[in-house]
Amino acid sequence: MDTTTVPQILDGNAIAAEIKTEVAADIERLHAQGIRSGLTVVMVGNHAASEIYVRNKVKTSAELGMNSELVTPPATVTTGELQALVSRLNVRDDVDGILIQTPLPAHVDKKLLDQAVAPEKDVDGFHPINVGLLQSGHPRLLPCTPAGIIEMLRRTGISIAGKHAVVVGRSDIVGKPMAMLLLHENATVTICHSKTKDLEGFCRTADILVAAIGKAGIITPQMVRPGAVLIDVGMNRITSQEDFARFFAGDAKREAAFKKNGSVLMGDFDPHAFALASYYTPVPGGVGPLTIAMLMANTVRAARLRRGLPVSK
Ligand code: NDP
Repeated sequence: MDTTTVPQILDGNAIAAEIKTEVAADIERLHAQGIRSGLTVVMVGNHAASEIYVRNKVKTSAELGMNSELVTPPATVTTGELQALVSRLNVRDDVDGILIQTPLPAHVDKKLLDQAVAPEKDVDGFHPINVGLLQSGHPRLLPCTPAGIIEMLRRTGISIAGKHAVVVGRSDIVGKPMAMLLLHENATVTICHSKTKDLEGFCRTADILVAAIGKAGIITPQMVRPGAVLIDVGMNRITSQEDFARFFAGDAKREAAFKKNGSVLMGDFDPHAFALASYYTPVPGGVGPLTIAMLMANTVRAARLRRGLPVSK
């Protein structure tokens, strides 16, 4: 890898805008055939952080020309009641995609709900059938965040085949499907997690390093190989002056935001690590926008698949 070039920012907003333009055109094409694709988001109870994400998803799908619906059962709803709600959505012809926003209240069984969503409407790609299809190399509906990261690498012309990709994090939502997608793109893949011994050693051998941990700045410059591609999935809010000074001293724009809001958003990489990268995703404005764009793409894909219409690979 070239270690002398200036780090390039992978602009998630720009790539997401490109994907959304393509999705909107496809929605138009379907509309011309009398098909109006639709996304239903289920948000249980009141959760301030979720509300922002959910409104963004609902708003974006409406802007792109889809039927867009938000269902908001109270926090006291039972798993059984949610399963019944999902069953009703499963049989509605105007619903192509069903998304159940997390986090859910502790008494709700998320696994059962993931299984309740009809696999052909599972735009999150969490149903065991879709997980299995991904695993066996015949993906149908992919989890949005890792799918967006692959799309970003592809559209930027970053080659994956033969590279050593290290994924830190093994969640069902990000880490595991990310590793599987990179493997299908012919990377040599290592998965690390909280019990990994010598995390630094593994990370330092990565050509492509994906951090999906949820701990602010845990990936330090010493853990990064010069010239690596750094993908920061983490979304962490820091509130202490000490953390702010450690990560962002001298960053006037962030300092103004920190003073105004008492917090700033950052990823799992110590931002000083980005100086070593060939390419990196900023937080915010990197992976986040792609997740929503891929949700839109998945919903139209689901609309096509359900009707036996052609889809891209
Ligand atoms: P989870 O909490 O489900 O998984 C975190 C993973 O990180 C686990 O596998 C855990 O290991 C591992 N981990 C925790 N601490 C360490 C450590 N010290 N060293 C190495 N590995 C560690 O989180 P998610 O996968 O759901 O999300 C990860 C982050 O990505 C979060 O900040 C989340 O907000 C963000 N996110 C961002 C999205 C976006 O659109 N930008 C979308 C989805 C998530 P173990 O399994 O051993 O516990």
